Amino acid sequence: MKAMISRFLAIALMLLLGLTACSSGGDSLQRIQSRGELKVATRNSSTTYFTGREGPTGFEYSLAMLLAEELGVELSVKTAFTLDELFKLLLRGDVDLAAAGLTLTDERAMQFPYTVPYLQLEPQVVYLAGQQRPRELDDLVGRELVVLADSSHAEFLRGLQQTRYPELTWEEVDSADTMVLLDMLDRGEAELAIIDSNEFSAQQSLYSRVKVGFRLGVEQDMVWYLPPGADNSRLQAYIEDFFARLEADGTLDRLQELQFGHTEGFSRISSHTFNLNMRTTLPQYKELIQQVADEYQLDWQLLAAIAYQESHWDPLATSPTGVRGMMMLTQPTARELGIENRLDPLQSLRGGARYLKDLRRRLPKGIREPDRTWFALAAYNIGLGHLEDARVLTQRQGGDPDRWEHVRERLPLLQKSAHYKTTRYGYARGVEAATYVRNIRHYQNILNWQDIADNKPLPPIRIDDYLPPMLQGTTLSAL
Ligand code: GLU
Repeated sequence: MKAMISRFLAIALMLLLGLTACSSGGDSLQRIQSRGELKVATRNSSTTYFTGREGPTGFEYSLAMLLAEELGVELSVKTAFTLDELFKLLLRGDVDLAAAGLTLTDERAMQFPYTVPYLQLEPQVVYLAGQQRPRELDDLVGRELVVLADSSHAEFLRGLQQTRYPELTWEEVDSADTMVLLDMLDRGEAELAIIDSNEFSAQQSLYSRVKVGFRLGVEQDMVWYLPPGADNSRLQAYIEDFFARLEADGTLDRLQELQFGHTEGFSRISSHTFNLNMRTTLPQYKELIQQVADEYQLDWQLLAAIAYQESHWDPLATSPTGVRGMMMLTQPTARELGIENRLDPLQSLRGGARYLKDLRRRLPKGIREPDRTWFALAAYNIGLGHLEDARVLTQRQGGDPDRWEHVRERLPLLQKSAHYKTTRYGYARGVEAATYVRNIRHYQNILNWQDIADNKPLPPIRIDDYLPPMLQGTTLSAL
């Protein structure tokens, strides 16, 4: 009897799947356009899609949004909490594509159509500082190794086990967010993890004790996967053009810079110190910072990041040159801002916030956000005059003086006589100004991510986890 029921269920399931496959047939580009909606599956993580201060954001989200805009359709996002779930959305034809930092692998390529690659990355073996550093594949054997379940890395390990290391073992973690792996290392629940380079560089700041042991040494392609069973050729060609355009006009680089770039070259030690201070000192001043940020309509994380860069959140900080207080204001600036006591954190924060807003307002109109904020920060450090010099040098060299990336590259020229001789305000410590902005962006990101990590949506409860084995697989309505 039981066998009959399960055969019946299997047949019903096949019929159902057949039906959905049929309904997802036809030209997929046409389907998206006539529906007026692009359905994208992704995973919730800081490298792909998350809710930031100004709403949904993330590398994949931004790309998908641009595609939807070009197609003139709405974007709808479905989030998966595991990679298995993500690929099931594709298999069922529930979405038009999966954009989720997915690596092109042999097994996936056999099952799913895919787009041209839009990014290259390299998987890395990471470990906790202070423990034995892995240096080559041999070192993976006999260690507690973790990867995301159904990830490209799990596929890679299966290959290794079948060919060279039959004794290799690892654990597959059911999550769509690599942060979970770093968490496990941090808590001593695993020794090694394999994680993509971009994922690691974006999250490293929260896990300053985790280090790269070695790179797997193969550049891998990141692609979007499409549902099988439909005619995807026009959609594929459209996306190929789309990526080519984003590459040619610098959008891809800019997005990468925005989402993953700010951590490069940042020392683990300073990240670690920041993390410590974030837990110990910041709570004392957080409310005050939020209050002032509200008053001046600034992002509190930005204001907190500046205050950290200036004084490590020490209201009594004093530099040998007489700059003082939490926001390290000079005496003349404080006077101009009407500040009586620079050592009073509230006054200092208010002064700094006002000064920053003022600088941001005075910048040339052509500079748009988010670059406008980075320029204002540079001016906070080096002054508007020197910043203007750097913009002139940028233009002279054929760069775009309204783009932070271009001007940041030229700021160090203010220290080279061949260049600063030709500017209006002369020598300035341009390297310091560039580092200043980079640090603040870095701190601001850590604060944002900490917020995201604290407020992350929990995966839906799986009833199977609460049912005895004989009832598992039952749906709520059947109960
Ligand atoms: N790129 C990986 C994959 O396609 C996911 C991210 C990671 O595990 O580092 O499975």
